[in-house]
Amino acid sequence: MQTFEALLREAELAHGHLCAGQILGVRMAMLGCLRLGVADPKGVDRKRLVTFIEIDRCATDAIAVVTGCRLGKRAIKFRDWGKMAATFVDLASPIAPSLGDAPAYKAIRIAALESSKQRARELYPHIEGKNQQQMLAYRELPDTDLFSEQWVRVPLHPRELPGYKSARIACEQCGEGINYDRELRQMQHGLVRILCEGCAFAEARYYQPLTVEEIARHSTAGAETSPPPAH
Ligand SMILES: [Zn+2]
Ligand SMILES: [Zn+2]
Repeated sequence: MQTFEALLREAELAHGHLCAGQILGVRMAMLGCLRLGVADPKGVDRKRLVTFIEIDRCATDAIAVVTGCRLGKRAIKFRDWGKMAATFVDLASPIAPSLGDAPAYKAIRIAALESSKQRARELYPHIEGKNQQQMLAYRELPDTDLFSEQWVRVPLHPRELPGYKSARIACEQCGEGINYDRELRQMQHGLVRILCEGCAFAEARYYQPLTVEEIARHSTAGAETSPPPAH
């Protein structure tokens, strides 16, 4: 394992600045690796970790730097819970699943304690600014003052693992390809249709197509070359 200072420098570069969240994230991920006995997460142990992260903030980048887990490698699973917490899953420690369940793995969930901010204030009352207080305090406070920990089991279907090869299936409505078995089967007029998430639940899409008027109203440069609205 690299040193705390070396990892922090790497995190600062990846994230664009040094902040209390980086320090907390580096320490959280180092603790997770320590608990799982993952000594070289970016080397010999690089296929052991999958990390669930419950927030998309500064610490998220730091956790990726320490663990070597990347969203683009399917080794980070983002759960948008708005909580400063992460679960480090050890793929080398399977736990016998009950019959019919997805395989599960031993994991350590680590959450930042709310009281850590108060501890930072107590430690450096004379320092102006919460971020400065926390940057200093989060370096030196013991793990028990910063984090709560819990051993957990995490079910992970083989299709969720890094390296899973899936068939590519075309959505019967939009024609776009769907990977990783994300296609849905929906009854329509007595027929089963294979649909992508966006077509199966069109109202719940994270985007809605613009109308011709909206495109005209909100476009400036490039409007002439923008794609035509969907029907
Ligand atoms: Zn930051
Ligand atoms: Zn579709």
